[in-house]
Amino acid sequence: MSNFIPLSVPNLSGNELEYVTNAVKTEWVSTGGDLINKLEENLANYLHAEQVCALQSGTAGLHLAMKLSGVEPNTEVIVPTLTFAAAVNPVKYCYAEPIFMDCDDSLCIDAQKVQQFLEEECDFDGEKVTNKTTKRQIKAIVVVHVFGNIGNLELLCQLAQKYKLKLIEDSTEALGTYFLDSGKFAGTIGDFGVYSFNGNKIITTGGGGALTAKNIDDVKHAKHLSTQAKADAVYFVHDEIGYNYRMTNLQAALGVAQLEQLEKFVEIKKKNYELYLENGLNLLGFSNKIRTNHWFYSLITDKRDELIKYMTENKIQTRPIWKLIHTLKPYEGSQTYKIEKALEYYEKVVNIPCSTNLTEEDVLRVIKTIKDFK
Ligand SMILES: *Cc1c(COP(=O)(O)O)cnc(C)c1O
Repeated sequence: MSNFIPLSVPNLSGNELEYVTNAVKTEWVSTGGDLINKLEENLANYLHAEQVCALQSGTAGLHLAMKLSGVEPNTEVIVPTLTFAAAVNPVKYCYAEPIFMDCDDSLCIDAQKVQQFLEEECDFDGEKVTNKTTKRQIKAIVVVHVFGNIGNLELLCQLAQKYKLKLIEDSTEALGTYFLDSGKFAGTIGDFGVYSFNGNKIITTGGGGALTAKNIDDVKHAKHLSTQAKADAVYFVHDEIGYNYRMTNLQAALGVAQLEQLEKFVEIKKKNYELYLENGLNLLGFSNKIRTNHWFYSLITDKRDELIKYMTENKIQTRPIWKLIHTLKPYEGSQTYKIEKALEYYEKVVNIPCSTNLTEEDVLRVIKTIKDFK
């Protein structure tokens, strides 16, 4: 019998064990320690960002980005519906409300519909945008760079500037993706950029994440908030409501080793993507304006559920794309705007194995199994 081929698993073949062992030996395993600073420095260098704040998760990063964007009770945030729930839930952590948008053919938020919505459904007084339907102020736009592709940042940045909104880049899936002309990395273009190092992301710290921001004071503020907002660590003076969101040194040990291999992982992902394509699989493309990290591969099929079942029977893990967030129970009754394309992609996209430790034999078996299904 052939082996199980998982969808997306960690690749810990570098210096992970050595660095983690060192962290354990020094007994710096918690939210203090050199490796956290080292990971932040190395990541900032990689991204050409001024400063980065290392966190417990990408979700924590998105929560802090929203707080720092002024998202508060009775305000609203424009979000995509075709995404992972963690991109939207932090809106609710802030007691604010999401407005759900469609995707375009990049699978990312449809910037033109965002523009239409702002022009036709909102009032702008030069300072504040108010949603005509709910009379609430809109504070931010979240763009998720789905599967390592990139959203229409040109238009989204223009809109954010014109309407004085904060642009939050959920780059949890797009670490390593950058624009070919400017060299700018996903997550360093809007007001905030958030990364994730969860187990299935392109690099992993087990669980973990990071935040960067255009304004360096926001990154500093995020660090403060992530460490319980201690104004004086000796006398337990806290000057704000803080969070226990700081990354641990043990996680950072993994992160430093993983980041050393990021470019290698990007190469492998590209090679496997091309192998799938050359063998005739119908995969969605990526924007030609970017060097993508090729994080996840999207097969387009009219027989989604049958294919997934067939692949499972053949011990190959695949998955459908996320259920649209506006259709989930916690978001019943939330406002939506002209959602069309997302409904189509929801029915048609199946993600196929993309781990960096796939062998060529594995990839060829995935291809053969998909072809046999047809
Ligand atoms: C993984 C992911 C997150 C959350 O990151 P965690 O580190 O798992 O908290 C948020 N948004 C998207 C689109 C993701 O894929």
